[in-house]
Amino acid sequence: MADALVIRNARSIATLAGGMRRGSAQNDAAVLTHDDASLAVAIVDGRIAALGPAEDVDRALTGLGLDPAAVPALDARGGLLTPGLVDPHNHLLFGGSRERELMLRQRGASYLEILAAGGGILSTVERTREATAEQLHAHGRRWLDELLSHGVTTAEVKTGYGLDLATELRCLEVYGALDAEGPVELVPTYLGAHAVPQGVFDADQSRRVLQAGAAHGLALRLHADEIHDSLGAALAAELGATSADHLAAISSDGIEALGRAADAGTPTVATLLPATTLYLMADHYAPARALIDRGVPVALGTDFNPGTSPTPNLQLVLSLACLQLKLTPAEALVAATANSAQAVGLGATHGTLEVGRQADVVAWRVPTVEQLPTWLGADLVRSVVKRGRIVAGETIAAV
Ligand code: ZN
Repeated sequence: MADALVIRNARSIATLAGGMRRGSAQNDAAVLTHDDASLAVAIVDGRIAALGPAEDVDRALTGLGLDPAAVPALDARGGLLTPGLVDPHNHLLFGGSRERELMLRQRGASYLEILAAGGGILSTVERTREATAEQLHAHGRRWLDELLSHGVTTAEVKTGYGLDLATELRCLEVYGALDAEGPVELVPTYLGAHAVPQGVFDADQSRRVLQAGAAHGLALRLHADEIHDSLGAALAAELGATSADHLAAISSDGIEALGRAADAGTPTVATLLPATTLYLMADHYAPARALIDRGVPVALGTDFNPGTSPTPNLQLVLSLACLQLKLTPAEALVAATANSAQAVGLGATHGTLEVGRQADVVAWRVPTVEQLPTWLGADLVRSVVKRGRIVAGETIAAV
């Protein structure tokens, strides 16, 4: 007997069919809508088997030798279904907390001034080095549960708070254990070159680090042009990086370099992190509209970390993207599903609801994509399905 589940009574399904989008196409989440809320998604052995009007889905199940009435059913209760959210930028594992810096920044201290005063990332490095694998694991579990309950089914997770071999390896091992436990799927990034004592790496230093990584077969991603334009976006495009992240200070040359890479069919996704800009009380957000207008695929991430973006709520980031980056709700959803899957190298398997794809699905308490970013700060998740199993939220059976 196949392992099957059918999600019934959905009013709309954002399928994201076709995967990554850029330019004006980013405003199309490929939404199916049925006013009588009779849409369904059938899942067999962890993959999408059929989706659309219930009668078509039931016919497909019958065609697979399954009795539709006997397949366990999850009730979407008239809500929206989307792919599981993919967080493409997350610093999950760290020791300690950094609440003191909030008040320093209120008094006008900049990020680089806090770094120079021995705070910032270096204080987190100290606490992370002190943490045992068990402590890091418990911390990671606590925040992964929070990500999941907010609809994230896959997350890119970085090391980079050890900055010594032993701690960096310890974090990678803990990521391996957390990923094996599931249900949130992890894409680890080795971020051994996260910081230097008095600031950030310049483009030539970054190129050497990244070329060494590429020589060992690693896919590349950069924190680029976060605080000032340091030619990071152009470097990311030059090296064929999977994503260039932050970009609050990207230059027009940088936008053009990312646009050319996308035109050439080798896109470097622009992963924008507006919660960080908000939390840093900065007034200059990444130029999302200019990036989209130039045909650069845009993704959104939490940047979850203790100092500059302590939020595990990617729904809140969608709202911020609409409020501060002027994305439409559809562009924001694309940025946190199909485009963020592309940004973590999973564009061929994750981030869309299509037959044959891995069945990572969120059932929402709202009926439309437009309502997703509207309810600021609310957790709108009804149920989360990962690889075909209900892993969070309601498990109410449909009738
Ligand atoms: Zn980051």
